[in-house]
Amino acid sequence: MARLAQTHGLTDVQQEILATVRDFVDKEIIPVATELEHRDEYPQQIVDGLKELGVFGLMIPEEYGGLGESLLTYALCVEEIARGWMSVSGIINTHFIVAYMLKQHGTQEQKEHFLPRMAAGETRGAFSMSEPGLGSDVSAITSKAVKDGDEYVLNGQKMWLTNGGTSTLVAVLVRSDEGHPEGTAPHKSMTTFLVEKEPGFGEVRPGLTIPGKIDKMGYKGVDTTELIMDGLRIPANRVLGGVTGRGFYQMMDGVEVGRVNVAARGCGVAQRAFELGVSYAQQRHTFGKAIAQHQAIQFKLAEMATKVEAAHAMMVNAARKKDSGERNDLEAGMAKYLASEYCKEVVEDAFRIHGGYGFSKEYEIERLYREAPMLLIGEGTAEIQKMIIGRRLLEEYRFQG
Ligand SMILES: Cc1cc2nc3c(=O)[nH]c(=O)nc-3n(C[C@H](O)[C@H](O)[C@H](O)COP(=O)(O)OP(=O)(O)OC[C@H]3O[C@@H](n4cnc5c(N)ncnc54)[C@H](O)[C@@H]3O)c2cc1C
Repeated sequence: MARLAQTHGLTDVQQEILATVRDFVDKEIIPVATELEHRDEYPQQIVDGLKELGVFGLMIPEEYGGLGESLLTYALCVEEIARGWMSVSGIINTHFIVAYMLKQHGTQEQKEHFLPRMAAGETRGAFSMSEPGLGSDVSAITSKAVKDGDEYVLNGQKMWLTNGGTSTLVAVLVRSDEGHPEGTAPHKSMTTFLVEKEPGFGEVRPGLTIPGKIDKMGYKGVDTTELIMDGLRIPANRVLGGVTGRGFYQMMDGVEVGRVNVAARGCGVAQRAFELGVSYAQQRHTFGKAIAQHQAIQFKLAEMATKVEAAHAMMVNAARKKDSGERNDLEAGMAKYLASEYCKEVVEDAFRIHGGYGFSKEYEIERLYREAPMLLIGEGTAEIQKMIIGRRLLEEYRFQG
């Protein structure tokens, strides 16, 4: 039935993957999502199904057991999955970022050790930059690693780990002064550690505690946690890429592809909101006709559909730019900014179309209304995207006078 958000120029393989994922979403996710969400229940069965489809290894190279697909294929799958339930795309997103960082920056030993298990969905990734005192300002990180023989000793507290409990591999960004004299720029004295752990809560490895789930307004089912490091010992061969001081750049590279992913989620949620709105508008009657026949409601639908199309086009453009090997921070920032803002607006319009029923937990739009705001924050707030976009514009349009 979908007329909106079509993507031209896809290969047969891409079309086949997308059709399979869409079918899975329609049959296995949409019918159960709202119920699971209300119970804040981890969607184990859905995750197992996605594992079987190979979604956890979509972008991991074939030599490591993945499907070796492009960022575009991945983003279009995420769009479909988020259309079903945004939390499921959140389960995949941090895994995907960690796999991407390993692929781009890992040592050969690290790739061989982690990527095949990640492709199979046996090892599941989370990434951790934020701390209680910072999110946007990553350069202010206070967690610290100190070298001790062949190991590093990590101390500090992290905040807001998506999949903090369920993951078994966390990419953690900390400050590491070793080899970086005092006065070194903050972003040059940070290191990403690959921290393996047991899934679950409590002390999941000596010196590493995951206290419990943070209770959230939406984005339920997927666990979001704190992480406490107290004398956590990590061997030197678990420094991502084998060299300290590169963590900030590695994380920013990961977040950049993560932004395309968040844009794709915004597109998926907005599409679902449109579907719900356009369907309800044709069923509900007021003043003797379906509300879809009132011009004010038709205008709303027109605006919603236009936003769905625009966000999808920008997301696809950002993914294709990265796939072509070009820098895409400008496009990814724009896509993430626009898609998340439009998503919030489309969801709100669909909510309004539902009248009082939109406020009832029986209607799916109520869930979407609580989920959309997360996209305004994750992988950098709107203000942070605008900072990135603005800086890049001034680079590109440098005054020549
Ligand atoms: C559900 C959820 C899941 C998350 N998952 C993860 C995860 O897996 N890993 C992870 O590391 N983090 C995660 N985060 C953290 C997320 O990345 C941060 O919340 C986000 O970056 C914002 O940081 P903050 O909350 O500290 O807000 P702050 O940085 O304190 O910002 C507060 C407000 O000030 C604005 N602001 C900040 N600086 C500026 C500036 N220079 N100019 C103008 N305005 C500014 C911001 O835009 C915002 O509106 C998650 C967050 C949530 C809510």
